[in-house]
Amino acid sequence: MAPAPDTVRRERGEDFYRSFLVGYGALFFAPHPVSGALFLLATFAAGPVVGTAVLLGLFAATTTAHLMRRSRVELESGLYGFNGALAAFAVFSLQGETVELQLLAAGLAALTVPVTVWLLDGRWTTRLGLPVLSVPSLIVGLPLCYALTHYQGLHPWPGTMLPPYLTANSLFGAEYYSDTMRDAVASFPGGSPVLLLFLVGFGVYSRKLLAHLVTGLLLGAGVGYAFLGWVGAFDFSFVIVTALPTYLALAATFTGAGWRSVLYGAVGVVASFLLWFFLGLWLADQGLPTLTVPFVISTLSALLLLRLVPAERAPFLPRQLPLHQVGGPQLAERWSKDRQFGWRYWQETAGKLDLDWREYTDPQKVARARELVRRSQRIVFLTGAGISTESGIPDYRTGAVAWKQYDTKQFRFERFVASEDSRRAYWEMSQDFFLVLRAALPNAAHDAIAGLDALGKLEAIITQNVDRLHQRAGVADERVIEIHGNEHTVSCLRCGQSYDREEIYRWILHGVDVPYCSRCQGILKPDSVAFGQPMIDEECERALAAVRNADLLIIAGTSLEVQPVASLPVVALRAGTPVLIVNLQATDYDAFAELVLRGSCGALLSEICQLDTSRANASDPAGS
Ligand SMILES: [Zn+2]
Repeated sequence: MAPAPDTVRRERGEDFYRSFLVGYGALFFAPHPVSGALFLLATFAAGPVVGTAVLLGLFAATTTAHLMRRSRVELESGLYGFNGALAAFAVFSLQGETVELQLLAAGLAALTVPVTVWLLDGRWTTRLGLPVLSVPSLIVGLPLCYALTHYQGLHPWPGTMLPPYLTANSLFGAEYYSDTMRDAVASFPGGSPVLLLFLVGFGVYSRKLLAHLVTGLLLGAGVGYAFLGWVGAFDFSFVIVTALPTYLALAATFTGAGWRSVLYGAVGVVASFLLWFFLGLWLADQGLPTLTVPFVISTLSALLLLRLVPAERAPFLPRQLPLHQVGGPQLAERWSKDRQFGWRYWQETAGKLDLDWREYTDPQKVARARELVRRSQRIVFLTGAGISTESGIPDYRTGAVAWKQYDTKQFRFERFVASEDSRRAYWEMSQDFFLVLRAALPNAAHDAIAGLDALGKLEAIITQNVDRLHQRAGVADERVIEIHGNEHTVSCLRCGQSYDREEIYRWILHGVDVPYCSRCQGILKPDSVAFGQPMIDEECERALAAVRNADLLIIAGTSLEVQPVASLPVVALRAGTPVLIVNLQATDYDAFAELVLRGSCGALLSEICQLDTSRANASDPAGS
C-alpha cells in the first residue's frame, strides 16, 4: 500500500520540524514555520512553564501523527500540532507546573491525534459541518481536566481565569477584580517582548492578518471596556484568550477579507464576551479551563448561525476541509477566488512527492525489464491513476485529503440522474477537478510510452484515466482505449449531443451551476464513467482484443483493484504473455508477473522504455 518505508521515513523526517512549528503558528491563525517559532519563543518569554507544556504538547502530537502516517498535507497544515498545543494549554491552565502534569499534557496532546483521525476519517466533521479546530482537544481535554480538579484537587490558575468567587451579580458595579489580579492584568502584555514577538510572528505570515489582529485586539478591549470598565479592557483571559481568537477565526479565517468579515468578527466578539462571562463562571465553578472553551463555542455557534443565512454568506465559508479550517487569510482569499482550494493545495504539495526512485530500485531488474521491452513488438500498456499523479492529478490515495471535502456518495450515477442537488454537487466538484486536468501536462511516464509508439512497438494503451494525457504525449487516439471514458467531452444523456468540456467549463464559470443540453434541455454529463454507471462495452471489447493480441503486457500505476481491468492480466497470463508490473503498491498479480518493479512510473518507465536500439541489437542478451 505505502511506498518503500525508508523513503517515507526520510521524506517525512525532513518535514518534521516544519510541520511541528506550522502547528503552533496555526494555533494562532498564522500557519507558517517562522511564525510558529516566534510564537513559541514568545510563549517561553511569557513563562518557562507554559512554554515547556506547549513544546511537549506540540512534540507529542506531531510525533504521533507522523507515526500514524497521516498525509503530509494534513501534517503541513499544522492540524495535529495545533490540537496538541491546545490540549497542553488546557492542562497547563490547571497549574501545570509539576513534572507529572507536564507529562500528562504531552500524553493528552498525543491522544488528540487518534481523536482527530477519527473525526476526519469517520467524516464526522464533514457530516456535522464543523471544523477540526480545537474540537479534538476539547473531547480529550475536558473530561481529564474535570477529573483532575475533582479528584486531585487541582485548580485553575488565577489570572488566566475568571475568579471563582465572582458571581453574575457582581458584573456591573461591584468590585470585579482583586488587587492582585488587577496588578497581574496591568503588568501583562503592554510593551512586553511577548507581545512584540507575537506581532512579528503575525506580520511574517501576513500583513493583512496583522491588521486583523490589531482590529481584533481593539474590538476585544472595547467590548471588555463596555461591560467591565478599564479592567475589562485589559483582561488577559477575555481580550487575548477569548475575544481575539474568536475574531481571528470569524473575520480572518472563515469569512475572508472585506468589511463584512469585520462585522462577523465583531458580532463574534460580543457573543464571546457573554459566553466567556456566563459560561466562564460555570466552568470556573466546575474547575474546568476557561482558557479555550468559550472561544471554541462562540466560534462554532457563529459558524452554524452563518450557515443559516445563505443570502448573507460571505464568498468564503468553511467547506469541511480540515486544511482550510486551519488555513489563514492568504489561502482563504486565494481559494475563494478560484474555488479549487483542495485540489490546488494538493497540487502544490504534490511537487514535493517527487523522489528519485532509482536509488531504491534494483538496477538488474530494470535491465531485465528493458530487455523484455526490447524483444517485444506488440506491447499493451494497462495504466491507472498512478501514472498521472506525477502530472499533478490526485488519485484516491494521495488525493485523499482533497477528496474528503466532497460527499462522494452524491456522485453515484443513479443519484446524478435523479437529483438536481446531486448534479449541482457533482458539477461543483467536477469543475474543480477539470481545472486540475486542464493544467496537467504529460509526465516522463506518458512520454516514455509515447516513445515506444514512435518505435512502432505499441499495440495499445488501456487506461483507467480520464485525463487524455497519453494522447497529449503524442499517442494516436485510436491506440488509446479509455475504459473509464474521459473528462474532456460532455454529452447529453437524452439526445446524445456532444459538447466540448471547455464550453461547459465556461458556462459554469459564468454562473450556470447545473448545465443542461441547449438542444433538448436533457441532463449533461462528462463522458467519464461515474460510480455506478455501466462500463462502455465497446471499449471493454477492444481492451480484451488488445490483450489477446499482445506479446507483452505492462501494468503501470494501477493496483488492479477495479473490474473489468483487474481481470485483464488473467487473460494475458492464460495466453502465456509475460506481464510486467510497475507500481508503487503491491498488486494481487505480483506473484504471477514475470517482473515487478516498485516505484514511480515516471522514473522507471523512462528507464525501461529508453531503448538504445543500436547497441541492444548488436549484443546478444545471453544473461537474461
Ligand atoms: Zn440533448
